[in-house]
Amino acid sequence: MTEIGFEGLSIDGKRLPAQEGREAQVFDPANGKVLARVAQAGVADVDRAVQAAYTKFSAGSWRRMSSRARGQLLQRIAELIRDRAEMLARLESHNAGKPIGAARGEIQAVAGCFEYYAGAINKFSGETIPGAAEGTLLTFHEPLGVCALIVPWNFPLLIASWKIAPALAMGNTAVVKPASATPLSVLALADLALEAGLPPGVLNVIPGSGGEIGAALVGHPLVRKVAFTGSTAVGSQVMRQAAEGIKRVSLELGGKSANIVFADAELDTCVESSVFAVYDNAGQDCCSRSRILVEREIYDEFARRFARRAQALRLGDTQDDQTEIGPLISREQRQSVRRYLEIGDREGAQRICGGEIPSEEPLARGNYLRPAVYTQVSSQMRIAQEEIFGPIAAILPFEGEAEAIRIANDSRYGLSGSVWTRDIGRALRVVRALETGMVSVNSSSSVHIEAPFGGVKQSGLGREQGMVALEHYSEYKSVFISAE
Ligand code: NAD
Repeated sequence: MTEIGFEGLSIDGKRLPAQEGREAQVFDPANGKVLARVAQAGVADVDRAVQAAYTKFSAGSWRRMSSRARGQLLQRIAELIRDRAEMLARLESHNAGKPIGAARGEIQAVAGCFEYYAGAINKFSGETIPGAAEGTLLTFHEPLGVCALIVPWNFPLLIASWKIAPALAMGNTAVVKPASATPLSVLALADLALEAGLPPGVLNVIPGSGGEIGAALVGHPLVRKVAFTGSTAVGSQVMRQAAEGIKRVSLELGGKSANIVFADAELDTCVESSVFAVYDNAGQDCCSRSRILVEREIYDEFARRFARRAQALRLGDTQDDQTEIGPLISREQRQSVRRYLEIGDREGAQRICGGEIPSEEPLARGNYLRPAVYTQVSSQMRIAQEEIFGPIAAILPFEGEAEAIRIANDSRYGLSGSVWTRDIGRALRVVRALETGMVSVNSSSSVHIEAPFGGVKQSGLGREQGMVALEHYSEYKSVFISAE
């Protein structure tokens, strides 16, 4: 891809330089090439974007637009996303280091998210309530106002769409802060939304450093809701700050999900699926099932087959359709992941393969790391407890259902997970006992736009996707109409 040039902030329907004139380069993690120069919002730009969103919200035309008309607008955005899918997929692939096949899938899912909320919004209704007083009690779902939407770099456009689509469907206005490394696809979406007819000021995008402008955005007095996806450490900071202004908060945070494999599992499918459940997106996935719990009697066989498949994964050029695994987002991220290799080795786990930096061209130019597999892992080890966010799998043995549940729940996180067994009764008992927000049986899939997505314990608060997301972007208003 040729260098794009300069990308301004998207505020009130215009592309603008930052007020302090700051900009930063963004890179292709597959080869280190500069993709674009992007304006870096400062505190004054946060205020400018929030004011634009607030002015639009207060004017009333957007929030009072009929739900059908807003739904039709979202549908037009979805159609434009499908029309420009290849451009968006290439952009995402280059900016986030994703294999092009995976990026194409994500862009289709982004369009699917807009379609879902286009259709959902006029089915989200209030109630009439049988009350004791003479008259009628009813509820309305009211939009909140300006929503600050803060997104990470691992699924830049997809995670942004899970916030933008329901927030806008409900009649809110939004200020999106993409991660500094990956602002390009969200900026492109803002352009497409304007082209689809979204009124200026409804959707604003301000790339910039979270450390520098995060507090100004979360703490801005006109922001009524903060939807954050990112690390647990920053999420906790966001929640503390939002508490000062009694703002609504939803948090999608880290994970260390368990993949529980019973001896009766159908192993061919299970191994293939389990490998991708760890290494997809180079392991930079909050739902990564990187703690693999395997029943003792098949432990050795599973580990052998898993490692063989992990070693066969095709690392490569992200623009090649055959590539299965791309680079990590940055050199720093790779360094952070490699520290866990030292930790795992020191803790006494056995690294049976992987963890090397490829030295051959063209991989040597990017932030690649070969998928690593540890066996002889016990639950208290740091590689079994901490979110590594890279291509490292930890395989732990267990004996029987009770021990599987105990180990799986021995985590501060609770985001996702899988259970592999042909015994339906056991599958149901185990899924009910797991402390997690999502779990799949004989599958590694966590994301279904129609169903609530989110975690328990330190994996987060609130849910995205499904009809429930509309509740998180609205407030009840109770009305009593006297009949006297
Ligand atoms: P991060 O917490 O460093 O950053 C996330 C976003 O917050 C970025 O836009 C960043 O600029 C911004 N930010 C940083 N400091 C801030 C502050 N003080 N105030 C406000 N915003 C601030 O996370 P990351 O490294 O970009 O992403 C990886 C993390 O995200 C992992 O822990 C992963 O599990 C998590 N994640 C969770 C989900 C989920 O749905 N549960 C999905 C994807 C990623």
